[in-house]
Amino acid sequence: MSSVHLQPHGLVDDNPPPALKELSKGIYAYVQLDGSWGLNNPGFIVGSKGVFLIDTCFTERRSKALKAAIESVTDRPVRTMLNTHHHGDHTWGNYLFPETTIISHRLTREETIQTGLASKAFFPTGNFGDVEVEPAFITYEDKLTAWVDDLRVEIEFLGPAHTTNDSIAWIPDRKLLFSGDLVFNHCTPFIVQGSLVGHLRALQRLRALQPEIVVSGHGDVCGPEGIENGVAYLQFVQDSAQKAWDAGLTPFEAAQKTELGRFGEWHEKERFVANLHRAYSEIRGEPLGMPLSLVNVMEEMIIMNDGQPLRCLA
Ligand SMILES: [Zn+2]
Repeated sequence: MSSVHLQPHGLVDDNPPPALKELSKGIYAYVQLDGSWGLNNPGFIVGSKGVFLIDTCFTERRSKALKAAIESVTDRPVRTMLNTHHHGDHTWGNYLFPETTIISHRLTREETIQTGLASKAFFPTGNFGDVEVEPAFITYEDKLTAWVDDLRVEIEFLGPAHTTNDSIAWIPDRKLLFSGDLVFNHCTPFIVQGSLVGHLRALQRLRALQPEIVVSGHGDVCGPEGIENGVAYLQFVQDSAQKAWDAGLTPFEAAQKTELGRFGEWHEKERFVANLHRAYSEIRGEPLGMPLSLVNVMEEMIIMNDGQPLRCLA
């Protein structure tokens, strides 16, 4: 694996700067550490006639830096893009690729349009620039195969999990998986807009693929242990929620009383309270992925973050 640390204009205050990693011949991850709120990992595959891109970034300057990183390794155009889900840190740079065919699951397109730029409000420190909503305009339902020359990219719908609308891109010939936000590496998973049961099911599917390299949605590139860590965390959420439910506690009370152990060392540990809200919804028997009001949840996360706004370096 080769790795180049980039210092694009405007990102010099990052610590560390984004890194471009060639994981397999022509297949790159664009890693934005430390993977905290808004710092996602796009990826791309360079073919003989063009580039297949997976996701963009949260802010104008970050997506422009991604574009410059692609141009640093090829002069071929970005012909095709996949959005792994609707979250702004994976889609808000789409508009910078006006000549690219953008693909997503049908629900990703719907959520991208419906939620718009509303989540900016949760990140008052975010430097978004002039981002615009540009949803995917080719949608699929269950599975779709994309080709980069003769390299097969298997796109599969695995929602509801992290959100209602998660896709993965699996490259069987290289045993390489772009997991989207189904894997967070040493960052805390976030399921309040998705499903706990569905997420565990999705991770079983990722396990069955037996990837050797996983480009996680956040945090550094990892191996299959990233999937196992996610399973362990989600089972911990499930167990904690059931105990707290049985004891008559609210999710917020439960979060204040629960010792996170090794999961407390991951970024965004305040997401635990949000994840408990999703677990409670499922204990109540509500449909997987049912929308939950985020207002209280965001307030409780801020309290669990020592009263500080959510840490967004984007
Ligand atoms: Zn996400």
